Amino acid sequence: MTIQFQANFLLKGTITCETGLHIGGTSEGIEIGGLENIVIRDPKTDLPFIPGSSLKGKMRTLLELSYKDSSENIIKNKGEPCKCGKCIPCKIFGSSAPDNKSKDDDRQQGPTRLVVRDSFTTVVKLETELKSENTINRITSEANPRSMERVPRGTQFKFEMIFSIYEEEDYSNFLKLIDSMKLLEDSYLGGSGTRGYGQIQFKDIYVLKRPAGYYTSSAKEIEISNFGSLTDMPKDDEFLARIK
Ligand SMILES: [Zn+2]
Repeated sequence: MTIQFQANFLLKGTITCETGLHIGGTSEGIEIGGLENIVIRDPKTDLPFIPGSSLKGKMRTLLELSYKDSSENIIKNKGEPCKCGKCIPCKIFGSSAPDNKSKDDDRQQGPTRLVVRDSFTTVVKLETELKSENTINRITSEANPRSMERVPRGTQFKFEMIFSIYEEEDYSNFLKLIDSMKLLEDSYLGGSGTRGYGQIQFKDIYVLKRPAGYYTSSAKEIEISNFGSLTDMPKDDEFLARIK
């Protein structure tokens, strides 16, 4: 099996919050009595953003759970990601380096196919909302009020991902990345998702291909297409024919 860099796919577009979004930030430096459950912010602009690691981590989990081997490994690793290096999620999202000390370690290591950039808001000013929630003590019936800071629904972020092709199989792995984005739309990003937070949609998706020659010689980048939403993207064979 030869591994050689062949092309990069750039995937750009908008993430729209369909419900309030809470990706937790650190409360460090916040005075006592201040807000506890704050959202993560870009220190440069003080605006909320979506860390690439949050987006990548969630897509990885959802894709891992859709394969037998990797979902079994999540259980074995007590909730940690699969590290086999062989399954499709490991190829796309990466796996940690094998431990050379143990002889029975048959993990494979290859290049991580996917890079997910941080997603910043499209606005210069953004008011977050505070959602009050009560948890009720089942025994004393005492209410324990708390408030969560959320990015309001309707907020848009610009996302960018780069997917690298190293072997023929990576073209179909690229389609699996799109599957994981679809899975995310029917799941949630950030905290309190089972209570209605974090529903997002990918919109205005722009796909661009940069073959190896784009970086080393005068080869041109190839515009694949613009898609209004994930559901507008062609299905497997048709899409493969367009990106190869
Ligand atoms: Zn794996």
